[in-house]
Amino acid sequence: MLMVRRVRISREAAGLLLAVSRELYPREMIATLHGSYRKGVVTIKEIYIIPDSVYGEGFASFNPYTMPLDMSFMGVAHSHPSGVGLPSHEDLTHMMGRVMVILTAPYRDERDIHVFDAKGSRLEVEVID
Ligand SMILES: [Zn+2]
Repeated sequence: MLMVRRVRISREAAGLLLAVSRELYPREMIATLHGSYRKGVVTIKEIYIIPDSVYGEGFASFNPYTMPLDMSFMGVAHSHPSGVGLPSHEDLTHMMGRVMVILTAPYRDERDIHVFDAKGSRLEVEVID
């Protein structure tokens, strides 16, 4: 897999991820990230909240067979109501796609959006208009 160097996320998608995370707090939310990948840059433009997700405290999962896996699929986002901005061991073993996004409570803005590559290394994220 080619390396991801940078991640960009639309202001709308970032705002929606934070809003849904706040709405579901203290439960976890999970969503898929869609956009494009070009020359090491992932651009996230849309998010899909997975309808069959099971939301719970410290637990969020979905059925991968209902996932819209297409060329626009960039990865999965989920929230950490605990506020810990790092992937858990379980997060890393269930990594899908090019990037993983973790939203941390209190879900204010970019400060609460954390992005990691498939190996769990932190990537810089830029919010774009
Ligand atoms: Zn997690």
